[in-house]
Amino acid sequence: MTDKIFDSTTLERALAFARREHNLLIDGQSKPAISGARYDVINPATCERLASVAQAGAEDLELAVKVATEAFNSRWSPLPPNERQRLLWRLSDLIEKNADELAVLETLNNGKPVREARFMDITNAINTLRYCAGWTTKLNGETVSVSHPGSWHSYTVRQPYAVAGLITPWNAPIMMAVAKIAPALAAGCCAILKPAEHTPLTAIRIGEIALEAGIPPGVLNILPGLGTEVGEAIVSHPAIEKISFTGSGCVGQRILATASHSLKRVTVELGGKSANIIMPDADLTKAIPGSAKAIFGNAGQICNAGSRLYVHSSVYDKTVEGIAEFAHSLVVGNGLSPDTQMGPLISRPQLERVCAYIDSGLKDGASLITGGKTLDIGGHFIEPTIIANTRQSMSVVQEEIFGPVLAVQRFDDADDLAGIAELANGTHYGLGAMLWTNDLSKAHKLAARFKAGTVRINGGGLDPALPFGGFKHSGIGRESGREGVEAYTEEKSVMIAL
Ligand code: NAP
Ligand code: MG
Repeated sequence: MTDKIFDSTTLERALAFARREHNLLIDGQSKPAISGARYDVINPATCERLASVAQAGAEDLELAVKVATEAFNSRWSPLPPNERQRLLWRLSDLIEKNADELAVLETLNNGKPVREARFMDITNAINTLRYCAGWTTKLNGETVSVSHPGSWHSYTVRQPYAVAGLITPWNAPIMMAVAKIAPALAAGCCAILKPAEHTPLTAIRIGEIALEAGIPPGVLNILPGLGTEVGEAIVSHPAIEKISFTGSGCVGQRILATASHSLKRVTVELGGKSANIIMPDADLTKAIPGSAKAIFGNAGQICNAGSRLYVHSSVYDKTVEGIAEFAHSLVVGNGLSPDTQMGPLISRPQLERVCAYIDSGLKDGASLITGGKTLDIGGHFIEPTIIANTRQSMSVVQEEIFGPVLAVQRFDDADDLAGIAELANGTHYGLGAMLWTNDLSKAHKLAARFKAGTVRINGGGLDPALPFGGFKHSGIGRESGREGVEAYTEEKSVMIAL
Protein backbone atom coordinates (compact mmCIF):
# COMPACT_ATOMS: atom_id res chain seq x y z
CA MET A 1 0.00 0.00 0.00
CA THR A 2 1.62 3.26 -1.11
CA ASP A 3 -0.06 5.20 1.67
CA LYS A 4 1.85 3.29 4.32
CA ILE A 5 5.31 4.55 5.04
CA PHE A 6 6.54 1.41 6.74
CA ASP A 7 6.01 -2.32 6.39
CA SER A 8 5.84 -5.04 9.01
CA THR A 9 9.59 -5.74 8.76
CA THR A 10 10.38 -2.11 9.55
CA LEU A 11 8.06 -2.21 12.55
CA GLU A 12 9.65 -5.45 13.73
CA ARG A 13 13.13 -3.94 13.40
CA ALA A 14 12.15 -0.81 15.33
CA LEU A 15 10.49 -2.89 18.06
CA ALA A 16 13.48 -5.22 18.25
CA PHE A 17 15.74 -2.21 18.69
CA ALA A 18 13.45 -0.72 21.37
CA ARG A 19 13.46 -4.00 23.31
CA ARG A 20 17.25 -4.21 23.59
CA GLU A 21 18.90 -3.43 26.94
CA HIS A 22 19.96 0.13 26.18
CA ASN A 23 23.18 1.40 27.63
CA LEU A 24 25.25 4.55 27.54
CA LEU A 25 27.44 5.17 24.50
CA ILE A 26 30.90 6.20 25.65
CA ASP A 27 34.02 5.91 23.48
CA GLY A 28 32.03 3.99 20.89
CA GLN A 29 31.13 1.33 23.41
CA SER A 30 27.83 0.38 24.90
CA LYS A 31 28.28 0.55 28.68
CA PRO A 32 25.85 0.17 31.56
CA ALA A 33 25.82 3.01 34.08
CA ILE A 34 28.58 2.61 36.66
CA SER A 35 25.90 2.69 39.38
CA GLY A 36 23.94 0.00 37.51
CA ALA A 37 20.85 2.26 37.52
CA ARG A 38 18.26 1.78 34.78
CA TYR A 39 14.84 3.22 34.06
CA ASP A 40 11.84 2.36 31.90
CA VAL A 41 10.72 4.27 28.84
CA ILE A 42 6.97 4.29 28.15
CA ASN A 43 5.08 4.38 24.86
CA PRO A 44 2.77 7.41 25.32
CA ALA A 45 0.14 5.99 22.95
CA THR A 46 -0.37 2.83 24.99
CA CYS A 47 1.17 3.59 28.41
CA GLU A 48 3.07 0.31 28.02
CA ARG A 49 6.73 -0.16 28.83
CA LEU A 50 8.70 0.25 25.62
CA ALA A 51 12.33 0.02 26.67
CA SER A 52 14.81 -0.21 29.51
CA VAL A 53 17.61 2.34 29.46
CA ALA A 54 20.76 2.84 31.52
CA GLN A 55 20.62 5.95 33.68
CA ALA A 56 23.88 7.89 33.59
CA GLY A 57 25.26 9.58 36.67
CA ALA A 58 28.10 11.99 37.43
CA GLU A 59 30.72 9.22 37.42
CA ASP A 60 29.69 8.16 33.90
CA LEU A 61 29.92 11.77 32.82
CA GLU A 62 33.44 11.98 34.22
CA LEU A 63 34.46 9.10 31.96
CA ALA A 64 32.65 10.57 28.94
CA VAL A 65 34.40 13.92 29.37
CA LYS A 66 37.80 12.22 29.52
CA VAL A 67 37.03 10.19 26.42
CA ALA A 68 35.59 13.17 24.49
CA THR A 69 38.60 15.34 25.34
CA GLU A 70 40.93 12.61 24.15
CA ALA A 71 38.89 12.12 20.97
CA PHE A 72 39.00 15.87 20.33
CA ASN A 73 42.78 16.02 20.68
CA SER A 74 43.70 12.87 18.80
CA ARG A 75 40.90 11.95 16.42
CA TRP A 76 38.51 14.77 15.56
CA SER A 77 40.15 18.19 15.56
CA PRO A 78 43.24 16.92 13.64
CA LEU A 79 41.01 15.74 10.77
CA PRO A 80 41.00 17.99 7.73
CA PRO A 81 37.66 19.82 7.45
CA ASN A 82 36.69 18.02 4.26
CA GLU A 83 37.07 14.70 6.05
CA ARG A 84 34.70 15.84 8.81
CA GLN A 85 32.39 17.01 6.04
CA ARG A 86 32.47 13.59 4.38
CA LEU A 87 31.72 11.83 7.66
CA LEU A 88 28.78 14.11 8.52
CA TRP A 89 27.40 13.65 5.02
CA ARG A 90 27.81 9.89 5.40
CA LEU A 91 25.88 10.07 8.68
CA SER A 92 23.07 11.89 6.85
CA ASP A 93 23.04 9.19 4.15
CA LEU A 94 22.77 6.44 6.75
CA ILE A 95 19.96 8.26 8.55
CA GLU A 96 18.22 8.52 5.19
CA LYS A 97 18.77 4.81 4.55
CA ASN A 98 17.25 4.02 7.96
CA ALA A 99 14.66 6.79 7.84
CA ASP A 100 11.53 4.63 7.96
CA GLU A 101 12.81 2.59 10.88
CA LEU A 102 13.90 5.72 12.74
CA ALA A 103 10.47 7.27 12.11
CA VAL A 104 8.72 4.23 13.57
CA LEU A 105 11.06 4.26 16.55
CA GLU A 106 10.37 7.97 17.09
CA THR A 107 6.63 7.34 16.94
CA LEU A 108 6.86 4.45 19.40
CA ASN A 109 8.79 6.64 21.82
CA ASN A 110 7.31 10.12 21.36
CA GLY A 111 3.84 9.29 19.97
CA LYS A 112 3.81 11.67 16.99
CA PRO A 113 2.21 10.47 13.74
CA VAL A 114 4.72 8.40 11.83
CA ARG A 115 4.26 10.52 8.71
CA GLU A 116 5.18 13.63 10.72
CA ALA A 117 8.19 11.82 12.21
CA ARG A 118 9.36 10.66 8.79
CA PHE A 119 8.74 13.73 6.65
CA MET A 120 9.30 16.53 9.16
CA ASP A 121 11.62 15.40 11.92
CA ILE A 122 13.84 12.97 10.07
CA THR A 123 13.91 14.94 6.85
CA ASN A 124 14.89 17.97 8.90
CA ALA A 125 17.64 15.99 10.65
CA ILE A 126 19.07 14.85 7.30
CA ASN A 127 18.94 18.37 5.86
CA THR A 128 20.54 19.86 8.97
CA LEU A 129 23.46 17.43 8.79
CA ARG A 130 24.03 18.20 5.13
CA TYR A 131 23.79 21.94 5.71
CA CYS A 132 26.24 21.82 8.61
CA ALA A 133 28.57 19.46 6.72
CA GLY A 134 29.02 22.30 4.24
CA TRP A 135 30.22 24.65 6.96
CA THR A 136 33.13 22.43 8.03
CA THR A 137 35.19 23.76 5.12
CA LYS A 138 34.00 27.34 5.45
CA LEU A 139 34.56 28.33 9.07
CA ASN A 140 37.15 30.89 8.13
CA GLY A 141 38.41 33.96 9.88
CA GLU A 142 39.45 37.05 7.99
CA THR A 143 42.51 39.12 7.49
CA VAL A 144 42.07 42.45 9.23
CA SER A 145 43.57 45.84 8.32
CA VAL A 146 44.74 47.35 11.60
CA SER A 147 45.77 50.97 12.28
CA HIS A 148 48.12 50.14 15.10
CA PRO A 149 51.49 51.89 14.56
CA GLY A 150 53.94 49.66 12.71
CA SER A 151 53.62 46.98 10.13
CA TRP A 152 51.34 44.05 10.91
CA HIS A 153 49.74 40.97 9.53
CA SER A 154 46.53 40.45 11.48
CA TYR A 155 43.87 37.84 11.11
CA THR A 156 41.12 36.05 13.01
CA VAL A 157 40.54 32.33 13.38
CA ARG A 158 37.66 30.29 14.77
CA GLN A 159 38.49 27.44 17.08
CA PRO A 160 36.06 24.82 18.34
CA TYR A 161 35.40 24.14 21.99
CA ALA A 162 36.82 20.74 22.84
CA VAL A 163 33.75 19.26 24.49
CA ALA A 164 30.16 20.46 24.11
CA GLY A 165 27.35 19.33 26.40
CA LEU A 166 24.07 18.97 24.53
CA ILE A 167 20.76 18.70 26.41
CA THR A 168 17.53 18.09 24.50
CA PRO A 169 13.74 17.93 25.17
CA TRP A 170 11.24 15.19 24.34
CA ASN A 171 9.00 16.91 21.81
CA ALA A 172 11.15 16.37 18.71
CA PRO A 173 13.86 14.02 19.94
CA ILE A 174 15.80 13.18 16.80
CA MET A 175 15.45 16.64 15.31
CA MET A 176 16.61 18.35 18.51
CA ALA A 177 19.51 15.92 18.93
CA VAL A 178 20.73 16.45 15.36
CA ALA A 179 20.15 20.23 15.58
CA LYS A 180 22.94 20.20 18.17
CA ILE A 181 25.14 17.27 17.08
CA ALA A 182 25.47 18.52 13.48
CA PRO A 183 26.80 22.03 14.19
CA ALA A 184 28.90 20.85 17.16
CA LEU A 185 30.69 18.17 15.12
CA ALA A 186 30.89 20.42 12.05
CA ALA A 187 32.63 23.09 14.12
CA GLY A 188 35.09 20.45 15.32
CA CYS A 189 33.83 19.86 18.86
CA CYS A 190 33.30 16.48 20.45
CA ALA A 191 29.92 16.05 22.07
CA ILE A 192 28.13 14.56 25.03
CA LEU A 193 24.39 14.39 24.42
CA LYS A 194 21.83 13.94 27.16
CA PRO A 195 18.48 13.22 25.53
CA ALA A 196 15.24 13.82 27.44
CA GLU A 197 14.50 11.13 29.96
CA HIS A 198 11.22 10.18 28.21
CA THR A 199 12.65 9.92 24.67
CA PRO A 200 16.21 8.61 24.47
CA LEU A 201 15.75 5.90 21.82
CA THR A 202 16.39 7.67 18.52
CA ALA A 203 19.38 9.48 20.05
CA ILE A 204 20.85 6.14 21.10
CA ARG A 205 20.30 4.84 17.57
CA ILE A 206 21.95 7.94 16.06
CA GLY A 207 24.98 7.24 18.25
CA GLU A 208 25.26 3.79 16.70
CA ILE A 209 24.71 5.05 13.17
CA ALA A 210 27.42 7.70 13.69
CA LEU A 211 29.92 4.92 14.43
CA GLU A 212 28.76 3.01 11.37
CA ALA A 213 29.32 6.19 9.35
CA GLY A 214 32.96 6.19 10.48
CA ILE A 215 32.77 9.03 13.00
CA PRO A 216 35.53 8.04 15.43
CA PRO A 217 34.65 6.58 18.84
CA GLY A 218 34.42 9.20 21.56
CA VAL A 219 33.45 12.04 19.21
CA LEU A 220 29.75 11.58 19.99
CA ASN A 221 28.80 10.15 23.37
CA ILE A 222 25.19 9.55 24.40
CA LEU A 223 24.27 9.67 28.09
CA PRO A 224 20.59 9.05 28.76
CA GLY A 225 19.50 9.89 32.27
CA LEU A 226 17.79 12.47 34.41
CA GLY A 227 18.16 16.21 34.05
CA THR A 228 18.56 16.58 37.78
CA GLU A 229 21.46 14.09 37.80
CA VAL A 230 23.55 13.78 34.64
CA GLY A 231 22.04 17.00 33.21
CA GLU A 232 23.23 19.05 36.19
CA ALA A 233 26.57 17.26 36.12
CA ILE A 234 27.07 18.29 32.48
CA VAL A 235 26.26 21.91 33.23
CA SER A 236 28.65 22.10 36.16
CA HIS A 237 31.54 20.06 34.72
CA PRO A 238 34.63 22.31 34.46
CA ALA A 239 35.98 20.66 31.30
CA ILE A 240 32.79 21.16 29.28
CA GLU A 241 33.24 24.54 27.65
CA LYS A 242 29.97 24.88 25.78
CA ILE A 243 26.38 24.01 26.66
CA SER A 244 23.54 23.93 24.18
CA PHE A 245 20.18 23.40 25.85
CA THR A 246 16.65 23.23 24.50
CA GLY A 247 13.82 22.98 26.97
CA SER A 248 11.72 24.87 29.45
CA GLY A 249 12.38 28.37 30.72
CA CYS A 250 12.82 27.46 34.35
CA VAL A 251 15.42 24.79 33.59
CA GLY A 252 17.10 27.21 31.16
CA GLN A 253 17.42 29.83 33.90
CA ARG A 254 18.83 27.27 36.28
CA ILE A 255 21.37 26.18 33.66
CA LEU A 256 22.46 29.78 33.03
CA ALA A 257 22.95 30.29 36.76
CA THR A 258 24.97 27.10 37.22
CA ALA A 259 27.02 27.63 34.06
CA SER A 260 27.93 31.14 35.17
CA HIS A 261 30.20 29.68 37.90
CA SER A 262 32.55 28.30 35.25
CA LEU A 263 31.70 30.99 32.67
CA LYS A 264 30.63 28.38 30.16
CA ARG A 265 29.35 29.49 26.78
CA VAL A 266 25.64 28.73 26.78
CA THR A 267 22.94 28.66 24.13
CA VAL A 268 19.42 28.23 25.50
CA GLU A 269 16.40 27.63 23.26
CA LEU A 270 13.37 27.97 25.52
CA GLY A 271 9.61 28.06 25.30
CA GLY A 272 7.24 30.16 23.25
CA LYS A 273 3.71 31.53 23.03
CA SER A 274 3.71 32.58 19.44
CA ALA A 275 1.11 34.95 18.05
CA ASN A 276 -0.67 34.21 14.79
CA ILE A 277 -2.39 37.20 13.21
CA ILE A 278 -5.02 37.01 10.50
CA MET A 279 -5.61 40.28 8.68
CA PRO A 280 -8.87 41.10 6.83
CA ASP A 281 -7.29 40.55 3.39
CA ALA A 282 -5.72 37.18 4.26
CA ASP A 283 -6.19 34.25 1.90
CA LEU A 284 -8.30 32.17 4.26
CA THR A 285 -7.94 29.03 2.14
CA LYS A 286 -4.31 29.08 3.27
CA ALA A 287 -4.60 30.86 6.63
CA ILE A 288 -7.18 28.43 8.07
CA PRO A 289 -5.30 25.15 7.50
CA GLY A 290 -1.97 26.90 8.16
CA SER A 291 -3.18 28.20 11.52
CA ALA A 292 -4.69 24.83 12.47
CA LYS A 293 -1.48 22.97 11.66
CA ALA A 294 0.53 25.56 13.58
CA ILE A 295 -1.22 24.61 16.81
CA PHE A 296 -2.32 20.99 16.31
CA GLY A 297 0.92 19.71 14.70
CA ASN A 298 2.75 17.39 17.14
CA ALA A 299 -0.32 17.84 19.39
CA GLY A 300 0.80 21.38 20.12
CA GLN A 301 4.04 20.18 21.70
CA ILE A 302 6.10 22.56 19.60
CA CYS A 303 8.00 25.46 21.12
CA ASN A 304 7.06 27.62 18.16
CA ALA A 305 3.38 26.56 18.01
CA GLY A 306 0.98 29.29 16.88
CA SER A 307 -0.89 29.16 20.16
CA ARG A 308 -2.34 32.69 20.29
CA LEU A 309 -4.66 33.53 17.40
CA TYR A 310 -5.69 37.14 16.71
CA VAL A 311 -8.32 37.47 13.98
CA HIS A 312 -9.69 40.64 12.43
CA SER A 313 -13.40 40.96 13.21
CA SER A 314 -14.41 41.03 9.51
CA VAL A 315 -13.11 37.46 8.98
CA TYR A 316 -13.46 36.23 12.56
CA ASP A 317 -16.49 33.92 12.26
CA LYS A 318 -15.36 32.31 9.03
CA THR A 319 -11.82 31.76 10.33
CA VAL A 320 -12.77 30.33 13.70
CA GLU A 321 -15.41 28.06 12.13
CA GLY A 322 -12.84 26.89 9.58
CA ILE A 323 -10.21 26.04 12.19
CA ALA A 324 -12.86 24.32 14.33
CA GLU A 325 -13.91 22.21 11.33
CA PHE A 326 -10.25 21.32 10.76
CA ALA A 327 -9.94 20.32 14.42
CA HIS A 328 -13.06 18.13 14.20
CA SER A 329 -11.71 16.37 11.14
CA LEU A 330 -8.38 15.45 12.75
CA VAL A 331 -7.96 11.76 13.43
CA VAL A 332 -6.49 11.43 16.92
CA GLY A 333 -4.85 8.12 17.81
CA ASN A 334 -1.77 5.94 17.86
CA GLY A 335 0.82 7.53 15.58
CA LEU A 336 1.61 4.16 14.01
CA SER A 337 -1.79 4.05 12.33
CA PRO A 338 -1.44 5.56 8.84
CA ASP A 339 -4.69 7.52 9.34
CA THR A 340 -3.60 9.27 12.53
CA GLN A 341 -3.10 13.01 12.26
CA MET A 342 -2.59 13.84 15.93
CA GLY A 343 -0.92 11.59 18.49
CA PRO A 344 -0.91 11.58 22.30
CA LEU A 345 0.79 13.97 24.68
CA ILE A 346 4.07 12.71 26.06
CA SER A 347 3.02 11.85 29.61
CA ARG A 348 0.25 11.83 32.18
CA PRO A 349 1.59 14.98 33.95
CA GLN A 350 1.68 16.79 30.58
CA LEU A 351 -1.93 15.76 29.92
CA GLU A 352 -2.98 16.96 33.37
CA ARG A 353 -1.17 20.24 32.83
CA VAL A 354 -2.95 20.85 29.52
CA CYS A 355 -6.37 20.01 31.07
CA ALA A 356 -5.67 22.38 33.98
CA TYR A 357 -4.95 25.20 31.52
CA ILE A 358 -8.20 24.58 29.64
CA ASP A 359 -10.12 24.65 32.95
CA SER A 360 -8.40 27.84 34.02
CA GLY A 361 -9.24 29.54 30.71
CA LEU A 362 -12.90 28.61 31.02
CA LYS A 363 -12.95 29.75 34.68
CA ASP A 364 -11.45 33.06 33.59
CA GLY A 365 -14.43 33.54 31.24
CA ALA A 366 -13.21 32.18 27.90
CA SER A 367 -15.60 30.03 25.86
CA LEU A 368 -14.98 26.57 24.49
CA ILE A 369 -15.40 26.38 20.71
CA THR A 370 -14.37 22.75 20.30
CA GLY A 371 -12.48 19.96 22.09
CA GLY A 372 -11.47 20.15 25.72
CA LYS A 373 -11.92 16.48 26.60
CA THR A 374 -9.41 13.71 27.15
CA LEU A 375 -9.88 10.56 25.07
CA ASP A 376 -9.93 7.19 26.74
CA ILE A 377 -8.14 5.25 24.00
CA GLY A 378 -5.13 3.89 25.84
CA GLY A 379 -2.63 6.73 26.05
CA HIS A 380 -2.37 10.40 27.00
CA PHE A 381 -4.82 11.68 24.40
CA ILE A 382 -6.75 14.93 24.30
CA GLU A 383 -9.00 16.51 21.68
CA PRO A 384 -7.72 19.41 19.62
CA THR A 385 -9.13 22.38 21.50
CA ILE A 386 -10.09 25.96 20.67
CA ILE A 387 -11.04 28.52 23.28
CA ALA A 388 -12.32 31.94 22.26
CA ASN A 389 -13.11 35.24 23.96
CA THR A 390 -9.78 35.12 25.71
CA ARG A 391 -8.10 38.26 27.05
CA GLN A 392 -4.40 39.16 27.12
CA SER A 393 -4.26 38.86 30.92
CA MET A 394 -5.47 35.23 31.02
CA SER A 395 -2.93 32.53 31.81
CA VAL A 396 -4.01 30.61 28.67
CA VAL A 397 -2.78 33.60 26.69
CA GLN A 398 0.34 34.37 28.71
CA GLU A 399 1.74 30.93 29.48
CA GLU A 400 3.04 28.13 27.30
CA ILE A 401 0.57 25.21 27.45
CA PHE A 402 2.55 22.86 25.17
CA GLY A 403 -0.59 21.08 24.04
CA PRO A 404 -3.20 21.35 21.24
CA VAL A 405 -4.97 24.37 22.72
CA LEU A 406 -5.60 27.49 20.65
CA ALA A 407 -6.50 30.73 22.47
CA VAL A 408 -8.42 33.12 20.20
CA GLN A 409 -9.00 36.87 20.36
CA ARG A 410 -10.44 39.32 17.85
CA PHE A 411 -9.18 42.76 16.86
CA ASP A 412 -10.97 45.54 15.01
CA ASP A 413 -8.51 48.02 13.52
CA ALA A 414 -6.32 46.49 10.80
CA ASP A 415 -4.55 49.86 10.26
CA ASP A 416 -3.40 50.13 13.86
CA LEU A 417 -0.11 48.31 13.34
CA ALA A 418 1.26 49.48 16.68
CA GLY A 419 -1.78 48.01 18.41
CA ILE A 420 -1.48 44.71 16.52
CA ALA A 421 2.22 44.46 17.35
CA GLU A 422 1.46 45.24 20.98
CA LEU A 423 -0.92 42.27 21.07
CA ALA A 424 1.61 40.00 19.37
CA ASN A 425 4.44 41.14 21.64
CA GLY A 426 2.31 41.02 24.76
CA THR A 427 3.87 38.06 26.58
CA HIS A 428 7.33 37.59 28.01
CA TYR A 429 8.09 35.08 25.25
CA GLY A 430 9.53 36.01 21.86
CA LEU A 431 10.09 32.87 19.82
CA GLY A 432 7.81 33.25 16.81
CA ALA A 433 5.11 35.31 15.14
CA MET A 434 2.90 34.41 12.19
CA LEU A 435 0.99 36.76 9.94
CA TRP A 436 -1.49 36.20 7.13
CA THR A 437 -1.99 39.14 4.76
CA ASN A 438 -1.55 40.11 1.12
CA ASP A 439 -0.66 43.69 2.00
CA LEU A 440 3.08 43.79 1.36
CA SER A 441 3.56 47.08 3.12
CA LYS A 442 1.81 45.99 6.31
CA ALA A 443 3.62 42.66 6.19
CA HIS A 444 7.03 44.33 6.21
CA LYS A 445 6.04 46.92 8.78
CA LEU A 446 4.69 44.28 11.16
CA ALA A 447 7.67 41.97 10.61
CA ALA A 448 9.86 44.85 11.77
CA ARG A 449 7.74 45.40 14.89
CA PHE A 450 7.48 41.80 16.08
CA LYS A 451 9.80 40.94 18.97
CA ALA A 452 10.25 37.35 17.86
CA GLY A 453 13.18 35.32 16.58
CA THR A 454 11.19 33.86 13.69
CA VAL A 455 8.52 35.66 11.67
CA ARG A 456 6.47 33.66 9.18
CA ILE A 457 4.25 35.45 6.72
CA ASN A 458 1.68 33.42 4.74
CA GLY A 459 3.36 30.15 5.70
CA GLY A 460 6.88 28.89 6.26
CA GLY A 461 8.76 26.27 8.22
CA LEU A 462 12.11 25.31 9.64
CA ASP A 463 15.15 25.54 7.42
CA PRO A 464 18.68 24.72 8.58
CA ALA A 465 20.00 27.84 6.86
CA LEU A 466 17.78 30.19 8.88
CA PRO A 467 18.88 31.14 12.39
CA PHE A 468 16.33 29.97 14.97
CA GLY A 469 15.98 31.24 18.51
CA GLY A 470 14.21 33.57 20.84
CA PHE A 471 13.86 37.18 21.87
CA LYS A 472 13.12 37.87 25.54
CA HIS A 473 12.36 34.77 27.66
CA SER A 474 12.47 32.44 24.64
CA GLY A 475 16.21 32.05 24.79
CA ILE A 476 19.71 33.31 24.25
CA GLY A 477 21.64 32.58 21.07
CA ARG A 478 20.65 30.98 17.78
CA GLU A 479 20.64 27.51 16.28
CA SER A 480 20.92 26.89 12.52
CA GLY A 481 22.45 29.17 9.95
CA ARG A 482 26.07 30.28 10.09
CA GLU A 483 25.67 31.59 13.64
CA GLY A 484 24.39 28.20 14.76
CA VAL A 485 27.71 26.60 13.79
CA GLU A 486 29.84 29.52 14.94
CA ALA A 487 28.22 29.16 18.38
CA TYR A 488 30.45 26.12 18.89
CA THR A 489 33.62 28.11 18.25
CA GLU A 490 35.65 30.82 19.95
CA GLU A 491 37.08 33.62 17.85
CA LYS A 492 40.73 34.54 18.18
CA SER A 493 42.65 37.55 16.85
CA VAL A 494 46.26 37.07 15.79
CA MET A 495 48.72 39.95 15.23
CA ILE A 496 52.19 39.44 13.79
CA ALA A 497 54.79 42.22 13.55
CA LEU A 498 56.27 42.23 10.06
P1 NAP B 1 12.77 20.51 30.34
O1 NAP B 1 12.10 19.87 31.47
O2 NAP B 1 13.35 21.85 30.52
O3 NAP B 1 13.88 19.48 29.86
C1 NAP B 1 14.72 19.67 28.77
C2 NAP B 1 15.97 18.84 28.98
O4 NAP B 1 16.70 19.36 30.10
C3 NAP B 1 15.69 17.38 29.32
O5 NAP B 1 16.70 16.59 28.77
C4 NAP B 1 15.76 17.41 30.84
O6 NAP B 1 15.98 16.16 31.42
C5 NAP B 1 16.91 18.34 31.05
N1 NAP B 1 16.95 18.92 32.38
C6 NAP B 1 15.96 19.03 33.30
N2 NAP B 1 16.42 19.61 34.42
C7 NAP B 1 17.74 19.87 34.23
C8 NAP B 1 18.76 20.46 35.03
N3 NAP B 1 18.52 20.93 36.25
N4 NAP B 1 20.00 20.57 34.50
C9 NAP B 1 20.26 20.13 33.26
N5 NAP B 1 19.34 19.56 32.46
C10 NAP B 1 18.09 19.43 32.94
O7 NAP B 1 11.84 20.64 29.06
P2 NAP B 1 10.92 19.52 28.47
O8 NAP B 1 9.78 19.37 29.40
O9 NAP B 1 11.67 18.31 28.12
O10 NAP B 1 10.50 20.19 27.07
C11 NAP B 1 9.47 21.09 26.94
C12 NAP B 1 9.96 22.52 26.91
O11 NAP B 1 10.98 22.70 25.92
C13 NAP B 1 8.91 23.51 26.54
O12 NAP B 1 8.94 24.62 27.41
C14 NAP B 1 9.28 23.93 25.13
O13 NAP B 1 8.84 25.18 24.74
C15 NAP B 1 10.73 23.86 25.15
N6 NAP B 1 11.26 23.69 23.79
C16 NAP B 1 11.92 24.76 23.20
C17 NAP B 1 12.41 24.66 21.91
C18 NAP B 1 13.15 25.81 21.28
O14 NAP B 1 13.89 25.59 20.34
N7 NAP B 1 13.01 27.02 21.73
C19 NAP B 1 12.24 23.47 21.21
C20 NAP B 1 11.57 22.41 21.82
C21 NAP B 1 11.09 22.54 23.12
P3 NAP B 1 14.69 15.27 31.88
O15 NAP B 1 14.15 14.71 30.63
O16 NAP B 1 15.23 14.26 32.81
O17 NAP B 1 13.74 16.22 32.56
MG1 MG C 1 11.47 17.72 32.15
